[in-house]
Amino acid sequence: MEKTLIEVKYAITCNRNFDIIKNAAIAFENGKITYVGQIKNIPYSRSYFDNIILEEYGIAIPGLINCHTHAAMNLFRGACDDLPLKLWLEKKIWPLESKLTSEDLFYGNLSSFLEMLSSGTTTFVDFYYFNELIDALKVIPLRAVATIAFLDQVPDGEIYWRRFKELQKYFDMANSIGDELVKIALGPHAIYTCSKELLEKIMDVSEKHNLLVHMHVSETLDEVHFTKEKFGLTPIEYLDKIGILNEKMIAAHCVHLKDKDINILQKKKVNCVHNPSSNLKLADGVMPLSELLKAGINVCLGTDGAASSNSLNLFNEMRTAVLLQRGVNLDPKFPNAKDAFLMATANGARALGLDNHIGSIEENKKADIVIIDGKSPRLWPEYDIISNIVYSCTPADILFTIVNGKILYEKGKFPNIDIENIMGEFNKKALKLLNTIN
Ligand SMILES: [Zn+2]
Repeated sequence: MEKTLIEVKYAITCNRNFDIIKNAAIAFENGKITYVGQIKNIPYSRSYFDNIILEEYGIAIPGLINCHTHAAMNLFRGACDDLPLKLWLEKKIWPLESKLTSEDLFYGNLSSFLEMLSSGTTTFVDFYYFNELIDALKVIPLRAVATIAFLDQVPDGEIYWRRFKELQKYFDMANSIGDELVKIALGPHAIYTCSKELLEKIMDVSEKHNLLVHMHVSETLDEVHFTKEKFGLTPIEYLDKIGILNEKMIAAHCVHLKDKDINILQKKKVNCVHNPSSNLKLADGVMPLSELLKAGINVCLGTDGAASSNSLNLFNEMRTAVLLQRGVNLDPKFPNAKDAFLMATANGARALGLDNHIGSIEENKKADIVIIDGKSPRLWPEYDIISNIVYSCTPADILFTIVNGKILYEKGKFPNIDIENIMGEFNKKALKLLNTIN
């Protein structure tokens, strides 16, 4: 594989000391970082490299990690803007999903991959249609956690139980992408769509195969009322009683939490995914992010699908996460830009059990790297680079997105990808679908 050298003005390593290296060089080969440090100390001659990226004003950051999305929902962008979650699901999403074809999903996924790459995301956790996700990853290989969805409290819900017998098929599909790019999670959709028996079975299977569990948790007041009425417990208490809460749980949303819930989440080392734009747009409420972070809970960031938040841009989410807490708590100190940046990088890696591989720019980690254009008018002056990245940077400022050592996005272009064809097909299919529900 190619040996690549990057030389930039700054590398924000996101390592344990949060080192920011000035006049930085990053070398990688076979998808792995072999050197991070100052340009003057590079232990190789330039002729050693096949590819050299010189960006005099570049800022290298670890690839961003989107811990909760529904990639193919790009198909539904703008079609369901003004509904609460329950009606959003019942009136729009489920009728649309009943008409989806594999081709629709394939192009929906590809379109979201292009969006994520062009906004600096290298890893995402998907919760949607597994097979079509894998097909799309064969064309554009981002790093992903693919979730096998389970829900049995819906019509035809029993079919999902069969998936437990087909686990090997899912493992094989994920492995077919190669380079260990795809990891699997079990995905009980939510408390209100999954029986207790299903959740217990998922807990057993997760334990047996050491699999992540990815679930929508305490997203709306409806869900809280449902759980209270049916079980006399909060959603977190209920899940704790079943025994499903542990460090393998990726709990998306966690909007409505009591103090006792936060204690449980902390004790059980649950990873919580904050999706501020989606929660705001669906009028769900606001996660008590400050309290969760203060309790030492690992909180990462997600965009949710484009049907709910309309954008897969994690820069939006970093900024919104901070602003939202300030509006609610009237505390201008916490969380700050660095907290948000860690949520989108190191915390995400930890939630996925991938902290030895991604989430920071360090030797022996995977070369998942984004280079930002430090001479963008939005990013001057270079007084506080982290502040600039979190509050001012937009996808237009991204120069390169590199996944596993491969350049998948470069200055507005996607090397070796037929973007005209993908977007043409995607747009045609999305419009055809959306016109069926008018
Ligand atoms: Zn979601």
